[in-house]
Amino acid sequence: MIIGILKEPQGEARVSMLPEAVKTLLSWNTEVWVESTAGDSAYASDSTYESAGAKIKNRQDLLSQSDILIGIQAIPTDEIGTMKAEAVWFGQLNALYSPELTKYLIEHKRTAFSMELVPRTTRAQSMDVLSSMATVSGYKAVLMAAGLLPRFFPMFMTAAGSITPARVLILGAGVAGLQAIASARRLGASVFAFDVRQAAKEEVLSLGAKFVDVEGAKEDKGAGGYAVEQSEDFLQRQKDTIHEHAMKADVIITTAQIPGRKAPLLVEERTVKSMKPGSVIIDLAASSGGNCALSQPDQTVEVNGVRIVGVGNLAAEMPQDASKMYGKNYLNFLKLIIKDGALDLNFDDDIVKGTCVCHAGEPISERIIQMQNA
Ligand code: NAD
Repeated sequence: MIIGILKEPQGEARVSMLPEAVKTLLSWNTEVWVESTAGDSAYASDSTYESAGAKIKNRQDLLSQSDILIGIQAIPTDEIGTMKAEAVWFGQLNALYSPELTKYLIEHKRTAFSMELVPRTTRAQSMDVLSSMATVSGYKAVLMAAGLLPRFFPMFMTAAGSITPARVLILGAGVAGLQAIASARRLGASVFAFDVRQAAKEEVLSLGAKFVDVEGAKEDKGAGGYAVEQSEDFLQRQKDTIHEHAMKADVIITTAQIPGRKAPLLVEERTVKSMKPGSVIIDLAASSGGNCALSQPDQTVEVNGVRIVGVGNLAAEMPQDASKMYGKNYLNFLKLIIKDGALDLNFDDDIVKGTCVCHAGEPISERIIQMQNA
């Protein structure tokens, strides 16, 4: 069985598997092909893949002859059409929000897995690419803010006077937010954080940050640990509280998301305009609507001396470790479905079922079935 590792499109520096992951795949009695220069931007050359035992191929051969194709970003439908009919394609296909692609896969009787659909269960944690990439983004967001801020993060007592620590406000304390808190604390900042889930409070406090409380948040135990949409009244009180904290902050990092919905607006225009000149806002939710009213995806805008960075794919800016984590998540997933060098798709397994968009055109994941029926 041939496993093909695709080169990612222009602008994506990660690769789905580094040479170290190839060795594990080969130990499962498979053949591994890698598209030429696939790992270049993650600092993994063709020769390092070859040393690990992979064969370097051109894209056309890889697409048309692989039994399993592995990538991160979705590829165009005309290329999907060149894959073997029974090939199994893995990527972060954003299947729930890409109805055209999902429709194409179903109509053309394809088999595809979309890694962002991995269920959020304890058993699936080691396969969760969203968590891995959120870890990278949370860390990178802090470094980006520290690089832009015209001040120190830590406190200093020097012969030239004392420096007070930067004050950092983190909005949303999920995987990315908690990593941002930990990273900002390591750099010596004074950190405040806010989330609508009370469970996040304990985690925030354990990282040495202060929790900003706004009473009356709606929670749903059935939402699988995710946040749910809040009432207008709550959102307004929340914006007012954030406004008060923002005036004193040097940095705001926003990470608040609600699966399947536009990101909640937390930082209003009036709040940005009340901030100190030189302050920095990093909006990690910019590509899903933005937590800040003034952020633009993949752009930095400046308003009254406040820089607002709307980041999209921050994980791609640290391609080596992001690829390493991605590859490890893939290996943990593939271990479930490769037995003795052959594919063994067991849809009684909740992880395999939950992640599969469609098998020979048949929708498999409950979330995809619901999307089809909506
Ligand atoms: P996410 O990326 O969907 O959202 C980021 C954070 O934004 C969340 O903490 C959310 O509560 C918060 N948020 C949403 N609306 C908000 C608002 N109006 N104001 C402030 N904050 C708001 O979340 P995530 O990082 O993917 O994780 C969500 C939860 O799922 C966490 O408890 C995490 O530990 C858990 N999780 C579990 C697994 C697993 O068990 N396999 C994997 C990943 C995450």
